[in-house]
Amino acid sequence: MEEKFYQLASFEYAADVQIIKGKLESEGIPVFLRDENTLNSDPLISNAIGGVKLQVYSKDKERALAIYNEVRAYALDEKDQPIVCPNCKASRSEVYYNRKGVFYKLFPFFEKRKYKCLNCGIITNPRT
Ligand SMILES: [Zn+2]
Repeated sequence: MEEKFYQLASFEYAADVQIIKGKLESEGIPVFLRDENTLNSDPLISNAIGGVKLQVYSKDKERALAIYNEVRAYALDEKDQPIVCPNCKASRSEVYYNRKGVFYKLFPFFEKRKYKCLNCGIITNPRT
């Protein structure tokens, strides 16, 4: 039988991947990373190819999605406090990357972190 993969998500930074990967593996779900070596050796190329792709077996898709949604729902600020949405007061946000233009592609670390509320979808830019 042919093995089929489901791409759960793609990440720009290996550190973000490791959090999700560790959680999924702790739940007994095999995780496959694509392009991670490229990312670590050359971040500019990783931007071009969309970063690290995290894949699971298709048969694990539902469980993996549930775990992923649970984990990513809690973006934390610098003080490890959940990001609270200023619009709906939900504390379920994920980190949101909004890079436009060549400058941020070359120097992504200059961009401030933003957060996207998973409840109402608003993009926030806290603590400017
Ligand atoms: Zn909200």
